[in-house]
Amino acid sequence: MTEHEDPSRDRLKQHFAQRVIHQARQILEVWQRLQRNEWNERGMRELREATLLLQRYAERFEQAEHLQLAQGIGDCLEAVTDNRGRLNSDLISQLNLLMQRLSRTGLRRGDSFEQTALPPLRKPVYLALQHLERAERLAQQLGYFGMNAQALDSANAFRSAMLERHPAAILMDVDFSGRGAGLQLAQTVQQDLEEKIPLLFYSHQDTDTPTRLAAVRAGGQEFFTGTLDASSLLERIEVLAHVAQYEPYKVLIVDDSRAQATYTERALNSAGILTRTLIEPIQAMAELAEFQPDLIILDMYMPECNGTELAKVIRHNDRYVSVPIIYLSAEDDLDKQLDAMSEGGDDFLTKPIKPRHLIATVRNRAARARNLKARMVRDSLTGLYNHTHTLQLLEDARLRAQRDDQPLSFAMLDIDFFKKVNDNYGHPMGDRVIKSLALFLKQRLRKSDHIGRYGGEEFAVVMPGTDAQTARQVLDEIRRRFAEIRYPAQPLDLSCTFSGGIAQLQGDTSSQSLTQQADEALYRAKHGGRNRVEVYTEMTPA
Ligand code: GH3
Ligand code: MG
Ligand code: MG
Repeated sequence: MTEHEDPSRDRLKQHFAQRVIHQARQILEVWQRLQRNEWNERGMRELREATLLLQRYAERFEQAEHLQLAQGIGDCLEAVTDNRGRLNSDLISQLNLLMQRLSRTGLRRGDSFEQTALPPLRKPVYLALQHLERAERLAQQLGYFGMNAQALDSANAFRSAMLERHPAAILMDVDFSGRGAGLQLAQTVQQDLEEKIPLLFYSHQDTDTPTRLAAVRAGGQEFFTGTLDASSLLERIEVLAHVAQYEPYKVLIVDDSRAQATYTERALNSAGILTRTLIEPIQAMAELAEFQPDLIILDMYMPECNGTELAKVIRHNDRYVSVPIIYLSAEDDLDKQLDAMSEGGDDFLTKPIKPRHLIATVRNRAARARNLKARMVRDSLTGLYNHTHTLQLLEDARLRAQRDDQPLSFAMLDIDFFKKVNDNYGHPMGDRVIKSLALFLKQRLRKSDHIGRYGGEEFAVVMPGTDAQTARQVLDEIRRRFAEIRYPAQPLDLSCTFSGGIAQLQGDTSSQSLTQQADEALYRAKHGGRNRVEVYTEMTPA
């Protein structure tokens, strides 16, 4: 523990370590930029320089984990150079793994486990709403969850803020500074920018199609109406500003021609897209389960079974109904193409295909599929995973943990005396508490943890790579902080607590027993007086 150290030295170290964090952030930004565009000399150079700098800072400020990661990234970049500047799937996944770890690496003081997810957005978010008080309230809420938001009160204030500093994202009321004027304002500002800023529009009233169309034309990527709540806004901004998405797209290529497959792989790898190739279509189902691609590229004509047949087989499995399938073929007969599409395909690309075209098609399709999937598996009130999907994620995580011999914890949380909240303050207040706990969990848990809404006021968390003791520390800290929140209400402000139960995967325990064990631990926490977190232990008979 740090209590025994010289406190001023500790503070100094802490201060300098911030630079390490800042530099790590820099690397992640370059990495994301490279993923959105193509890998080129300039980007590589930038990444290499940023990595060297991180390495130097990490050495100087004694951050062992950052140092190790910087060296790992440096090694990968060297391997790219040795490979004549070409990325391949191995290097992409290695780099991605390192980047993910980097994004999760907080500061460590002594041996204490400090929960720091991704360093918060450095740049602010500009809020340009018709009602200043509303914007200010929203800014305050966002601030509470670690986002730096700035409410602006006039078109001039907005313009000068833009001149001073580009934000991470803009939330613009369509009627900011006059009817329809917000649309105009955003458009003119955006026009002059080389790199567009994520732009979200808002309208208090439900709007007509022409307004929405105008918003799209002005470069809006999202349109909110009605009451704005901090949690959904936060989630969208995180995605748009690429804070949340580090995961590269994964594409499964099925093609009996090795040469064609290599060509496709190279093109996609050069855009940071992960690929896996199957020469024999028969193995496709096993590969799908293992690789979990975002998209599949199928050769139309293969000796063993042709693309359309395989597409049908894939579509028969519920889990893959929404994975886009793109046919790749020399076939330019339009009728045959249409036939193929009606057999479960989503697009048809004709060989020879230009890499740019291929990359664009894959990116668009994969992005839409991810978006759709996100809607299917999420709970609408909180944006967390729903019950079914949480269990699916638990099952996936269990298999992986057992395969890699890594710890895995599963936690169940339940708000205490929640009935009273509804009874005394009304159902909407109850909803608010649920949403706020959801947001709280999202902000404070790691990106690799899966958070689900298990039932009404019950939550579940899948924590890969985490043993029960660590899970307990983390959740207990969240529990303590959550209890401190005061919700303004009449006649008295409201505060809530929750109880939690944790179980760690042991040997070949099934997912089902794991959930039962967590439930049992939760039950003990409730009976032990609530507002506490318990770890499951096998009861020794008395
Ligand atoms: P305990 O400390 O034992 O958990 O007590 P409790 O009152 O929290 O537990 P109980 O399970 O008896 O009550 C849960 C209540 O949560 C009942 C239900 O009306 C309410 N609830 C469930 N889903 C929602 C929701 O989506 N919104 C609101 N506002 N209330 C909900
Ligand atoms: Mg409860
Ligand atoms: Mg309950």
